[in-house]
Amino acid sequence: MGRRHRLWVLGLVFAVACGGEPTPTVEVGPDADAQGHSAPTSATVAANAAVAEALPLEDPVDFEDAERGLLLRDENVEVAGPAGSASWNTAEYAFIDGQAPPSVNPSLWRQARLNNLHGLYEVVPGVYQVRGYDLSNLTLIEGQSGWIVVDPLTTAETAAAAMELAARHFGARKVSAVIFTHSHVDHFGGVSGVMPLAEGEIPIVAPAGFVEEATSENVLAGIAMARRATYMYGRRLARSERGHVDSGLGKTPAYGTVGIRSPNRLVDRTPQEMTLDGVRFVFQYAPESEAPAELTFYLPDKQAFCGAEIVSHTMHNLYTLRGAKVRDALRWAGYVDEALRLFPEAEVMFASHHWPMWGNARIRDYLAKQRDTYKFIHDQTLRFANQGLTPKEIADRLELPSTLAPSFPNRGYYGTVRHNSRAVYQWYFGWYDANPAHLNPHPPAQEARRYVEYMGGAASVLERAQVSFDEGDYRWVATVLDHVVFADPGNAEARALLARTYDQLGYQAESGPWRDVYLSAAYELRHGGPDPGEALSLAIAAELLANTPMERFLEAVAARVKGEEADGKQMKLNFVFPDVGESYVLTLENAVLRHRAAEPDPDASVTVRITKDLMVRLMTGQAGIREVVMGDALDIEGSRLELLSFFGLLDAPDPTFAIVWP
Ligand SMILES: [Zn+2]
Repeated sequence: MGRRHRLWVLGLVFAVACGGEPTPTVEVGPDADAQGHSAPTSATVAANAAVAEALPLEDPVDFEDAERGLLLRDENVEVAGPAGSASWNTAEYAFIDGQAPPSVNPSLWRQARLNNLHGLYEVVPGVYQVRGYDLSNLTLIEGQSGWIVVDPLTTAETAAAAMELAARHFGARKVSAVIFTHSHVDHFGGVSGVMPLAEGEIPIVAPAGFVEEATSENVLAGIAMARRATYMYGRRLARSERGHVDSGLGKTPAYGTVGIRSPNRLVDRTPQEMTLDGVRFVFQYAPESEAPAELTFYLPDKQAFCGAEIVSHTMHNLYTLRGAKVRDALRWAGYVDEALRLFPEAEVMFASHHWPMWGNARIRDYLAKQRDTYKFIHDQTLRFANQGLTPKEIADRLELPSTLAPSFPNRGYYGTVRHNSRAVYQWYFGWYDANPAHLNPHPPAQEARRYVEYMGGAASVLERAQVSFDEGDYRWVATVLDHVVFADPGNAEARALLARTYDQLGYQAESGPWRDVYLSAAYELRHGGPDPGEALSLAIAAELLANTPMERFLEAVAARVKGEEADGKQMKLNFVFPDVGESYVLTLENAVLRHRAAEPDPDASVTVRITKDLMVRLMTGQAGIREVVMGDALDIEGSRLELLSFFGLLDAPDPTFAIVWP
């Protein structure tokens, strides 16, 4: 994907223009690939062979389901993104074919092959899906006058390409309704790619809370989530046998123009019946599950259940590695159970990711197992916690029962038992494991320097780490060498061996995100972090930013106040946004910035009239503060210098912070 990688801000994908090829900072071996990733070791070859031995990887059922109903497929799907970029390109993944290479866990390889399949498919007559055009699926339901579009992908570009594929098979049809199943960007971001096919105002259905959650979920923490997401989705990695192969949920989110539409029909109860363009729907409201706002639905006349994303062909995340609030396993399992009881006669099941499933008995068995996977992790984590086990101990001990573990849809391609059990612990107990030694430890770099010194110095640690590496003890080597690199990031030998260690951990991982995280760490140890000169391109998300409530931006502004510099300062400012008819009084005291919606306060030292758009561009770094404040674009009453010093108290986030060194 060239010299561009992507950051997730506000939960969506932005392009980051990147400089030239980063200079390698450590030596790579003669066996390295183009990005420096080392060959799989004999320990990795053996570990992956053992996986192939243990699982029925040749079971054809998923492949039959994933290919069933194929109506139209282009050999390669290449969708252009904004400004000459590529939004989507299936050819990048063409290497995923046949037997797994030794550098990929064969179970993940199987999932990656399934997720490679793309095209227009019939689910049942009247229900169709375009799959493999993005991370998620676009579903088309035939209404009396046009298409009811369910989940229009991440970007306008990929959604338009999916609609074009459908039009080639079915002929041009208008869009008569849109359904957003939940508030994650891969299920609504491409809506502007399908709206040109709508005439006049059409029903737009979403779960209650959709716009608020969709626009606000990551405003406060978006920069850090974005940086962490580069690891989770392997954004800096080549698509290759030693690089990114799959996220487990699909390939990766498409890159391109992201938008949103406000729903005009909300789903806020269960069951909730609705007829859209002549098609009967029964909705299930499932908030605070996989997403804060989510729904599923049933088409009684087709006996078809759409499980949205509360069910999929993987164990999902109770905690997502890019960083997010943990999800409630018990509620999640409860919604799957409720769906099983509400729609017992379902003959076909389809979802927002992956391929459908046919047959009532199979669907019921699948739903029960999805439900019990989350409930098992929940219950057993608490059982062990109530016996005094702590998160790392529980994660190391917990294994799915023999009735769930071998079943492919419950395997950890996206979430894992290990990190999901820690999410359950976090949900109930938070970060502290009750061991006082863990209450106030030194920060990593300080701790690392002392460990390394106590262990006899870096050279001696490296010597022993090499022995453990040769024994294939990669988990331990990563722990030990992490200390050496944090004690001295300039230790090239430690970086090189740690990078090789992460390569092997990545090659052995069954989870797509685990593989991407390890291999991204190896990449950055070898090549350095992202270019600090890169600029966020927020233009592709203008529509989403415009729909984000002003209150969310003001909360994010408060989270940028430089506490030390604001200490002892007092300020009161009026911000008036005439274009949206909103007005806020901002007060700074105790190094805390508060805002309240109110008419301008006469005691304020300055009153600024500014458009929401300009404020958003100031806060996202698209417009310069000094130029705007000192220029004529703003209507300012009172002290410009006071306003400038206010903005001067705001810190700049660092979208390229270091992860695998201090
Ligand atoms: Zn999704």
